[in-house]
Amino acid sequence: MPPPPAARRYRGTPRNLACLARCLRDGELVAVPTETVYGLAANALDARACRKIFSAKGRPANDPLIVHIHALRDLALIAEPNAAALKLAKKFWPGPLTLVLPKKPVVPTVVSAGRRSVAVRMPAHPLFRRLLKLAGVPLAAPSANPFGYVSPTTATHVQQGLGRKIRHILDGGVARIGLESTIVDLRDPRRPRLLRPGAITRAELEHTLGCVVAWRRQAVTKATSAAQLSPGLLARHYSPKTPVVLHQKIVAAHTQPANEAWVFFAKPPGRRGRNVFWLDPQGGLRGAARRLFSTLRRLDDGRFQKIHVELARGAGLADAINDRLQRAAAR
Ligand code: AMP
Ligand code: MG
Repeated sequence: MPPPPAARRYRGTPRNLACLARCLRDGELVAVPTETVYGLAANALDARACRKIFSAKGRPANDPLIVHIHALRDLALIAEPNAAALKLAKKFWPGPLTLVLPKKPVVPTVVSAGRRSVAVRMPAHPLFRRLLKLAGVPLAAPSANPFGYVSPTTATHVQQGLGRKIRHILDGGVARIGLESTIVDLRDPRRPRLLRPGAITRAELEHTLGCVVAWRRQAVTKATSAAQLSPGLLARHYSPKTPVVLHQKIVAAHTQPANEAWVFFAKPPGRRGRNVFWLDPQGGLRGAARRLFSTLRRLDDGRFQKIHVELARGAGLADAINDRLQRAAAR
């Protein structure tokens, strides 16, 4: 049997967007750019279409999908919003924030993985917004990568991971944020809980809501310089094939052996070898977040036995970066 045809890449012309919107309404999958990472989209109200997402990704059926909407008025069609949800939606949408709310029956159980809640987001990427509007239905979309691997931040990443499993990829350039959305559980609006840290920080959520947002942070041990953290209990996710080792601080003199990659947070001073990398020249959190997944992917081509990475310092976006790093390092 010949291999399935390679996915086609589309630029965001009006004609292409109209064509892809039709594909989505017909129950096909389309990989889409978002400001967080690329998503693999299907009509969220079509259970058969959404099942294709799980099989293309190899995603277990118990892992629910995020549903993307075009406008705030679409929220009440699929979820039961409360005052806290509306406060956050008005402040942060369109943007990298996902709200978990009680779901309406119209959302198929395959989307919510059998739960009575649904996760909803209004994305900001202009091409994805136009596609949502043209499709005229909410779109379920997890990250457009094989389950468990590092999330895609470019159309090329999507092609590399799912190029033979899907037919359509909308190219919207490099994802501006580079990390998946912040997820807040608002099923009980008096006790909001952070389920996944992202570019919208816990402090921003607390400021807008005027109450504490609980977060069960994955424990980061107080490892000394160059000592390995043991992320024993962490779910493995966002993981390169090459083992990832985390460090509170990497010392420039210790970037040996040469067949292991050393990823500093900021550009290190002095002599640098072919196995020395950095996430952001100035050590900026936004730049580091944007380049984290593409850096892990680039170093995961078999050249290196291990990828050592320096953790981010501070809170907010640093929490989101460190969360992904800890999952990447989990065995
Ligand atoms: P992603 O793979 O980036 O689309 O993220 C989807 C994640 O959103 C899931 O793995 C869950 O952690 C979370 N999620 C989605 N739907 C729900 C839900 N109904 N209740 C709780 N968490 C959810
Ligand atoms: Mg994912």
